[in-house]
Amino acid sequence: MAAKSAQEIWEATLGELQIQFSKPNYRTWLEKTVGLSYQDNQFVVGVPNTFVAEYLDKNQRSLIEKTLIGLTHRDINVLFRVETRQQPETPSATRRTTPRFNAKYTFDSFIVGNCNRLAYAAALGVAENPGHSYNPLFIYGGVGLGKTHLLQAIGYMALANNIQVLYVSAEQFTNEFINGVRERKTEEFRNKYRSVDMLLIDDIHFISGKPQTEESFCHTFNELYNANRQIAITSDLPPKSIPLLENRLYSRLEWGLITEIQPPDFETRLAILRAKAEQKGVSLASDVLELIAHRIQQNIRELEGMLNRVIAYTRLLRAVPTAELAAQALEDIAPKAAKSASITPSLVIDTVANSFQLTPSGLKGKKSKETNLARQVAMYLIREETNCSLAQIGEELGGRDHSTITHACKKIAADINTNHYLRRKILDIQQGIHKK
Ligand code: ADP
Ligand code: MG
Repeated sequence: MAAKSAQEIWEATLGELQIQFSKPNYRTWLEKTVGLSYQDNQFVVGVPNTFVAEYLDKNQRSLIEKTLIGLTHRDINVLFRVETRQQPETPSATRRTTPRFNAKYTFDSFIVGNCNRLAYAAALGVAENPGHSYNPLFIYGGVGLGKTHLLQAIGYMALANNIQVLYVSAEQFTNEFINGVRERKTEEFRNKYRSVDMLLIDDIHFISGKPQTEESFCHTFNELYNANRQIAITSDLPPKSIPLLENRLYSRLEWGLITEIQPPDFETRLAILRAKAEQKGVSLASDVLELIAHRIQQNIRELEGMLNRVIAYTRLLRAVPTAELAAQALEDIAPKAAKSASITPSLVIDTVANSFQLTPSGLKGKKSKETNLARQVAMYLIREETNCSLAQIGEELGGRDHSTITHACKKIAADINTNHYLRRKILDIQQGIHKK
């Protein structure tokens, strides 16, 4: 947010306020306001006359401040100031910007694992062959798992191939739509969007609950789709869970490819950490990387943050980064989730055995069809949930060697993606482990 101008922040705020005000009220009190400045927690809103200033100050201050705080995550006081000069030029449908993609977010720098393999392949297909592979492409998954990275990578490659590409966040789309309506420039807004070869929309869930924006998006979508232009969309939620995403839009999504990015498994987290450390020109021992990979499981952005923290910490101390130092660096921000401390291999083995209706010694015992899968699941989960080394895992499970463990972990990680029954079972076991 810091980099955004007062006007941009104010436009986003107006977008929210528009939903909370009746139309006539919005027109009377808010329509002609502008974001003038934002400094030291003070946000100055320009209003057309003292009458409006007084009304907003007396009656709407707390709602407006609350909305601003919600958007910026900062403490904010609002000041209303009469301002008669013309509205500053706003980023709206009238201005055509050439997209700038972050050179950090390319296919090359994206680490592929079981959790994101399909999304990666689909994104690459779309970038190389727009309009002819999957249309639309819909990628969903939790926060910090690489959705924006992939969408930007598509744009980056398409642009390099001279394809007319437009990348916007759904938030930006909403703001442009609202401005288009307000400034009576809906035609320009439409033209801008329907003239491209490829439209990339990030975080589509943002438009849910904004019916007019949603409708405008549907129109844009239909026009592009019918003209065989490529559309790619990301979302934190699967399409079915986005409230109000219009039915007709939903059925269109199903004509393309809907793909999920899942949280990375341990090996993928490790591979990502290795790659990021290498990019930064830092070499870290395996046990240091493993420690970080164990500590952060759900979010790749946080994984990267932790890595940076460990690097900064050891630089500060001018010390060689050891696992011990890394643990110290991580202590206050990622307190050892009860996890690694209280989850022991035998807890995992007991829970897995129970779930497969075996005894722990049965699970560790002789090879047989029934016990093989249970044992592989146990290996996989001990690797995921504890800090045990491969050798330790082998020992816990009746003296298996380390290639057996690696093979099992890879196999289970891959099977989870195709076998829903197994995925459900493993999630249940994990829940059981964490409850104890
Ligand atoms: P999202 O949009 O899903 O919230 P981002 O695309 O912003 O997540 O990713 C968060 C961070 O993690 C970014 O710095 C991104 O480069 C990095 N990242 C995510 N997935 C991968 C991956 N598979 N390989 C390398 N970096 C990744
Ligand atoms: Mg994102």
